[in-house]
Amino acid sequence: MAKILKKTKIIKVDADKCTGCRTCEIICSAFHATPRYSSNSPAKARIQIITDRLNDKWLPVFAGEYVPAECMGRTKYIIDGKEYDDCDFCRAACPSRDLFKEPDSGFPLKCDMCEDVPPQEEPMCVQWCINDVLIYEEIEEEVEEEEALQDIEAKVQLLIDKYGARDVVEKITRMTRDDYDEEVEQEEIEIRLRSLVDQYGLEYVRNIIARMTRGDHEEEAVREQEELEKKLHTLVDKYGLEFVMDKITRMTQKG
Ligand code: SF4
Ligand code: SF4
Repeated sequence: MAKILKKTKIIKVDADKCTGCRTCEIICSAFHATPRYSSNSPAKARIQIITDRLNDKWLPVFAGEYVPAECMGRTKYIIDGKEYDDCDFCRAACPSRDLFKEPDSGFPLKCDMCEDVPPQEEPMCVQWCINDVLIYEEIEEEVEEEEALQDIEAKVQLLIDKYGARDVVEKITRMTRDDYDEEVEQEEIEIRLRSLVDQYGLEYVRNIIARMTRGDHEEEAVREQEELEKKLHTLVDKYGLEFVMDKITRMTQKG
């Protein structure tokens, strides 16, 4: 299968410069609080600082994917003579530990690069780290088209399941217009689609959504028509055809 270009956001960590101030944890948790900045709790941050206080060593680790089972084997790291816990540098939220889980609900947390509408110039932890430990970069890499398709389809399907095909199609179509500007209605669709578009390009993502939603879109339209007909029948039963027709005629004349 062909390869396609994918843009990826990365944060490089210059660990030697980290002083363990934990500003990154605080700003990350505040940025993701609901409402935004209403509270901060480092336990809810999607970045955690692993420490070796005796040797003045600090290492930022970012929350990665949730994994449903702990791994079969462990890895021991010995750095400058200090042995670190098995899971210290692991990025996963996994069932065998509490790290990278929302303390109240237990839901896994994942670094989302502070995706936002309108987009941030740089992720918040990068902006707030005064020691330049965290360095933001965007890289372009070639990936297998099959991998890209799976990635896009899985993410779009989640949006379709939650919001319906019509809203997803409308949103991606708006993005193709010249006068398109970021909007905050249905923020989640906007953010997730923008992220895919940034990664793979608008045309590519739009074509995949068109293919995925062709059937759904029509089904949704038929369902809506059926619901409308049911409502009209109810009104006609209740008020009589003449009265309803008269109302509709007046509305169309007004409008
Ligand atoms: S804000 Fe920077 S220096 Fe402070 S703990 Fe985070 S990465 Fe380290
Ligand atoms: S990039 Fe954003 S979400 Fe990820 S750790 Fe930094 S502040 Fe948190």
